Amino acid sequence: MIKQEIVEKVRAAGVVGAGGAGFPTHVKLEADVERVLGNGASCEPLLMSDLFLVENESEDILSGLSMVMQSTGAGRGTLCLKEKHFEAFGTLEKMISKHKIKDIDIFRLGDFYPAGDEMVLVYEVMNRVVPEGGFPLQVGVVVNNVESLLNIARAVKTDKPVTERYLTVAGEVQKNLVVKVPVGISVGEVINLAGGATISDFKVIVGGPMMGQVVTDLSTSVDKTTSGVIVLPINHNVIAGKTDDPERIRQITRLFCCQCSRCTDLCPRTLLGHSLESHKIMRQLGVGSQLVSEALLEDALICSECGICEKFACPMMISPREVNAQIKREMMEKGVDRSPKKIDYQPSAFRDVRKIPTKRLMERLQVSRYDQHPEIFTGKIEVKKATIPLKQHIGAPAIPVVKTGDRVDKGDLVGEIPNKTLGARVHASISGVVESVGTDVVIRQ
Ligand code: SF4
Ligand code: SF4
Repeated sequence: MIKQEIVEKVRAAGVVGAGGAGFPTHVKLEADVERVLGNGASCEPLLMSDLFLVENESEDILSGLSMVMQSTGAGRGTLCLKEKHFEAFGTLEKMISKHKIKDIDIFRLGDFYPAGDEMVLVYEVMNRVVPEGGFPLQVGVVVNNVESLLNIARAVKTDKPVTERYLTVAGEVQKNLVVKVPVGISVGEVINLAGGATISDFKVIVGGPMMGQVVTDLSTSVDKTTSGVIVLPINHNVIAGKTDDPERIRQITRLFCCQCSRCTDLCPRTLLGHSLESHKIMRQLGVGSQLVSEALLEDALICSECGICEKFACPMMISPREVNAQIKREMMEKGVDRSPKKIDYQPSAFRDVRKIPTKRLMERLQVSRYDQHPEIFTGKIEVKKATIPLKQHIGAPAIPVVKTGDRVDKGDLVGEIPNKTLGARVHASISGVVESVGTDVVIRQ
């Protein structure tokens, strides 16, 4: 199959980065690169669906990886997994040998956070530093999450659009689960699949404990990038940092930052040699407005919001991650376009010893007791209503191509990419009648 056919099938199926960012996959497939990395690191604590996919869908994942290699002209593909997941290794190795695949290998990652961050992954595997604010493409690599690879294989082989999502349900629920759900199902329904919450006062994180968002409304819908639904007590350590008032966070930073620089010392981006020095940005909050260095504040744009500074490094319980996120939003609203400050990157000599072991991170987060092997949900999922966002990806929202009252079947197109714009198509995840069209397309059976 030629490049353009693969790209077109992946575009038509609405495949986006399933690892969290939601970058439209067909755009990555248009590039020409040397190597493709399949990201199965599953680095956020508690999230297990990627591992489940590697163990159970390895044939399609390898096939998706081959298709990306074909499309990008890459001579080599590498599936990256944590060394501790030896069963998944065994499955992949058998499959590679069964099909006599010569151009795909497996890379063993250490058990640290954030091993699955694209920039960290590229350095671990290839010793190349992706420029600050840049993309793996700039160093000849494309990275795809394993669920994206599965979706690519299904799009190319069977023209199947992305209408479902694998995710982990964990925390204060009757049973930890890995489950495949239709896009547009509500978070509340997902929790019910796990037997419901075990406590009455809880909050829900959509995503992982480090980078996920707290949702207050259980009708919030699952989209193509939702990797987890984590139920935690309302006063849990993980919830606290995600629900504080933004102005209060800045005030606390001004008052209590002791400039110890641990946020900078342990930052995975700084350790790669990027210019980010969070303690200096925090110091800016305490200086008078005429002394503020805009150039320094702009460095917040290269923070990945991984949360190590907030949840692991800072002894004063300050959140450089949140401060950086606020500054980033302000910079983006102003249209600031930060160019890289360096052309040469020298990773820190201390990088290896400053990696954060996942086990220690889980203890610090106080989530170790939720780290149980999940059951695989095999029951039937009845969804009466699907609320499908028209923006589940980086880029412009899809333009609705259905109207209220239309009848749609599962897999029908409901949102198209705006002309000549970065975006992704959106499809119906259940059959039914379109109840409303706004920022979401709501379908009722
Ligand atoms: S969240 Fe903190 S540790 Fe992570 S990249 Fe940003 S500054 Fe660095
Ligand atoms: S780790 Fe905390 S106290 Fe230390 S410099 Fe960073 S924000 Fe300030």
